[in-house]
Amino acid sequence: AKDAGRGGFCFFAPEMNARLFERRAMELDLRAALGNGSLFLNYQPQVDVRTGQVIGAEALLRWNRPEHGLVPPDRFIGLAEEIGLIGQIGAWVLQEACRVAATWPDPIGIAVNVSPVQFRLPGFHETVRTALEASGLAPSRLEVEITEGVLLKDTDDTLAELSRIRELGVHIAMDDFGTGYSSLGYLQKFRFDKIKIDRSFVKRLDEDPNAIAIVRAVVGLSEALGVTTNAEGVETVAQADLLRSEGCAEVQGYLYGRPMSPEAFTQLLQAGRSA
Ligand code: C2E
Ligand code: CA
Ligand code: CA
Ligand code: CA
Repeated sequence: AKDAGRGGFCFFAPEMNARLFERRAMELDLRAALGNGSLFLNYQPQVDVRTGQVIGAEALLRWNRPEHGLVPPDRFIGLAEEIGLIGQIGAWVLQEACRVAATWPDPIGIAVNVSPVQFRLPGFHETVRTALEASGLAPSRLEVEITEGVLLKDTDDTLAELSRIRELGVHIAMDDFGTGYSSLGYLQKFRFDKIKIDRSFVKRLDEDPNAIAIVRAVVGLSEALGVTTNAEGVETVAQADLLRSEGCAEVQGYLYGRPMSPEAFTQLLQAGRSA
């Protein structure tokens, strides 16, 4: 079966045609998505692990694709990047997230994911500034989450753009820390405000002493650099207890709340304040 592709003609097997067709259909639907309201944001609480207080939320993009239902972001962000749609979608995410966060009590913050392709579009920081100005949200309440993919290319330009965002007063978090390459080098080149310890480490905390050692090292390193830490994907009380005792500052995960509608998040904030 492997040889069948070599000649070229056999490459477009029927199932391949079907895949290309489906991709093209998805592309058309995605192009229409911004105009028909099928994109929306969910908000996952971020919690101070010592007090248990909700201190912010991460905005997570959802697509309710007509006649197909919910498509996870991992399945359409890459496509949006490929077809040149990530700039528009990303700008909408920033605008919408800031607009909603401006209705929350100060200083509850909002974290927004930015893809590497979106980050490298010319004038990305202007998109951030526009979203802040349109919403009236204080810049210090916005956090931009980038991954190591952002830092892989054009180091000088990237660092300059990160500095421009920092100059707006916006915080910058390193997402999925520990999953990519040469993380330590990046930490030396740019001062992040927050490091998010990837879920893969948190998941193994209960059974794997190495995972504890890694969390301990990341927290220690962050403290030395003056950076705060968030642990993602916290699902059990045991994980939360370990993270607290290791000095991690902030936690996020199903234990505290799944990504939810803006209405549900507002209710959560109100319940927390009257408790
Ligand atoms: P991420 O930024 O690492 O987001 C965390 C993912 O983990 C989210 O998946 C969240 O729902 C999930 N999660 C949170 N807590 C738990 C937990 O306790 N257990 C488990 N098993 N999972 C948990 P989601 O929403 O499917 O998003 C997947 C990825 O899609 C995100 O990973 C992010 O890279 C990307 N993404 C989401 N929204 C946006 C966006 O607006 N823009 C961009 N560029 N990327 C986005
Ligand atoms: Ca994230
Ligand atoms: Ca993450
Ligand atoms: Ca991720």
